[in-house]
Amino acid sequence: MDEIIKAISSDGFVSVSAISSRELTERAREIHGTTPVVTAALGRTLAAASLIGSALKKPEASLTVNINGGGPAGTIIAVSDYEGNVRGYVQNPIVELPRKASGKLDVGAAVGNNGMLSVIKDFREKEPYSGAVKLVSGEIAEDFAAYFAVSEQIPTACAFGVLVDRDRSVLAAGGYIVQLLPGAPGKAATLVEKNTAETGAVTSVLNGGGAQTLLESVMNGFSPRILERGNVEYRCSCSRERFLNAVSSLDKRELDDMRAKGEPIEVKCQFCNAVYTFAPSELDRTDN
Ligand code: ZN
Repeated sequence: MDEIIKAISSDGFVSVSAISSRELTERAREIHGTTPVVTAALGRTLAAASLIGSALKKPEASLTVNINGGGPAGTIIAVSDYEGNVRGYVQNPIVELPRKASGKLDVGAAVGNNGMLSVIKDFREKEPYSGAVKLVSGEIAEDFAAYFAVSEQIPTACAFGVLVDRDRSVLAAGGYIVQLLPGAPGKAATLVEKNTAETGAVTSVLNGGGAQTLLESVMNGFSPRILERGNVEYRCSCSRERFLNAVSSLDKRELDDMRAKGEPIEVKCQFCNAVYTFAPSELDRTDN
């Protein structure tokens, strides 16, 4: 089962959260029929959204990540609830690109780097908080590190990875976010840098031991204390009622057209492919 673990260094200056997200990434692949490079792009984004979302604290809060780098994959959207349960969407799920010389999937080329990464935190009160940065490489982790540095002013090291099998299913997925808290000594930054370099590809570590091994690897020498751990999954929040509200809020002329045709209206959730059918009479009650 997918899992998020959070910990803090014994001196209180370094916080870390790590996720193993193979199952939710595989679910996303099944729903959207993504090719490997898009599975990796979407999977990395889902892992990031899940980790950031799981820090929202308030049950009614949600987080939306939007990445649009102008690459062939188009826009990528990931939405997390406050526990880190996520859903996602990608505009063009089928992109085939040659691998990089290193053998890695060329996520940066699929996503593109001519555009923005935006993060919206909606606490269902007042205006949502939103921040955006220019994409650095479209490789996702670098882009999120830039987001944290620029938008939240928190020195952050992060890595997200997705390993796709020969049959295109997801073998391993996950990542981590390490952050230096105010007052952290310079040597903490040096040690984080050393640890992340030595940890290397997150999918290799995850395959060996899961989120906890990954967390221990990036926190080597910090004597981390585990603060919380919890399971997460691919979860959509759509419902018949929500879609009926959405359809009913279309403009009056469109609604009149639908009613005039007298045929049932079918809508599909872009996050989970659930299909909802409404009789024209169901729209009547929300007329006016
Ligand atoms: Zn749905």
